[in-house]
Amino acid sequence: MTSPLALFGGTAAVTAPTPHFTWPPIDGRAVSAVVSQLQSAVSIYDRSGVIAELEDALRCYFGARHAVLTASGTAALYDLYAACRIRPGDEVIVPAYTFFATVTPLLHLGAIPVLADCDERGNLDPADVARRITQRTSGIVVTHMWGVPADAAALRTLADAHELFFLEDGSHAHGASSRGRKIGTFGRGAAFSMNGPKPLSAGEGGFILTDDDETYYDALLHGQYNKRCRNEIPAEHRMYPFAVTGMGLKHRIHPLAASIALGQLDRLDEYLEGRTQIAAYLLEHLDGIPGIRVPKPDKAMHPSWYGLVLQYQPDELDGLPAGRYHDALLAEGCAEADRPGSTCPLNLLPLFQDPGELLPAHKGTFAYQPGDFPQAEAFHAGAIKLPVWHREEHMRLAGQYVEAFRKVSASYRSLLG
Ligand SMILES: *Cc1c(COP(=O)(O)O)cnc(C)c1O
Repeated sequence: MTSPLALFGGTAAVTAPTPHFTWPPIDGRAVSAVVSQLQSAVSIYDRSGVIAELEDALRCYFGARHAVLTASGTAALYDLYAACRIRPGDEVIVPAYTFFATVTPLLHLGAIPVLADCDERGNLDPADVARRITQRTSGIVVTHMWGVPADAAALRTLADAHELFFLEDGSHAHGASSRGRKIGTFGRGAAFSMNGPKPLSAGEGGFILTDDDETYYDALLHGQYNKRCRNEIPAEHRMYPFAVTGMGLKHRIHPLAASIALGQLDRLDEYLEGRTQIAAYLLEHLDGIPGIRVPKPDKAMHPSWYGLVLQYQPDELDGLPAGRYHDALLAEGCAEADRPGSTCPLNLLPLFQDPGELLPAHKGTFAYQPGDFPQAEAFHAGAIKLPVWHREEHMRLAGQYVEAFRKVSASYRSLLG
């Protein structure tokens, strides 16, 4: 049989030194791009230089009419929501299972987040969304969780049928596609984070995509006041008089961050191709290991594999708790096997249970509780997330991770009791 579990003093399955995963990849080209940006401009007020270069590259990559860079994904989401003219009291249907920043900007606009449950892949379930539409609903927002595309086409159809806006949070899914169509192009607009570990990284940053001129002008007014608004909003436009102040918030990206992202975007497809191969290896070899269920994306979907989220099945291992299984994996050296914490069903977070405590405008407007979203809570409770590497040389490390899962599942009895 296999050697004893490392948790009990056996030899660990994973021998590679840590860290096992770092992102984004920074090479000599990235370093010289940042240095030369440092020497040319560190503050850009309009759409020029590296700002224009990166926005144009994003427009081209996604096939979008407009792109607006922002300081963060959270800022991009805020500007996009504000550009959709969301008003206090509007209900916006959002995933119960997403990173909270998909939803928190809505709270600052006075909107009521109406959470909806997920499907077995962890993505917003169109059937549950349909049940939650009311007279007060103004829109639907989807996140493509961990880079696996949600059914954006079905959600868009549903939104159109009820004359609602449809928006995407693509922060996990840069370059992913569904039936040949890029994530971020299904609705009136999309917001993306370019925070450190995201598939397209600027270190810190974000962007908005939209084909709609009005949404574009409004997004500028909500995050890029003065020069850029004066340059780009037509002088005869009814919003032009507001160009100097916008509505007073400034969400511009740092030019150095933009220069990092520009180099990353150049290689995004190469990174995604590498991830696709390692994900295929992991799926093939983890499939069938007792206690572990692998994700099975639709054949027409191309995930970005921001993470590969396995579902732990305690019933296959005599009820062994997920925490205990995970401890054994960590002991085997799977330093990157993660049980996500802050990315969890929003009804488990105090801000969504008692929003009035921090945001007085929301006193008594909504209150979620544990138990409200059984599908999302089950998905979260069983989630074990692996990084998906992109280089051939990481295949061996992926193999060691698979070996660790095999070993822990084979010896699960020693972990019981
Ligand atoms: C990271 C993330 C955000 C927030 O982006 P920041 O750049 O960190 O502000 C929003 N939504 C999702 C789904 C994210 O993963």
